Amino acid sequence: MSMRNRESRSKDYNGGVKVGCIFCDIASGKIPAKKVYEDDKIIAFDDIAPQAPVHVIVIPKKHLSGIMAIDDKQADLITNIFRAVKGIAKKKNVESSGFRVVVNHGKDAGQAVEHLHFHVIGGRAMEWPPG
Ligand code: 5GP
Ligand code: ZN
Repeated sequence: MSMRNRESRSKDYNGGVKVGCIFCDIASGKIPAKKVYEDDKIIAFDDIAPQAPVHVIVIPKKHLSGIMAIDDKQADLITNIFRAVKGIAKKKNVESSGFRVVVNHGKDAGQAVEHLHFHVIGGRAMEWPPG
């Protein structure tokens, strides 16, 4: 059984929402956030602990645990997330100065919230490689 099937069959899942997931609660409006972009499937909001002048979190409203839960069925969603990222970069005035898009997965990357999310970070020069 695929990861996605296992997830959608879990009793914790109710119409794509995971009980106790902070980002599901932001997507549903239960937890407030400073919204930067929203459409029917995607929401973006300022990070609560910004690591740069621009630090926006972009998420699918539907709960996906992380990058390993993406499959072909999310092709349109992922394209639309990057379309949203472009709009956010323009809105936050970093499309020319540059920005970084980061997806942390798992322990070594320091993933803290197990709901797929894309960090859009900019507004200052960044180091490479990341720490
Ligand atoms: P991760 O380490 O999982 O890649 O990133 C999770 C991000 O979510 C962190 O940058 C953290 O500051 C942010 N975050 C965690 N809880 C909240 C919250 O309740 N509201 C907002 N706006 N951001 C959050
Ligand atoms: Zn979630």
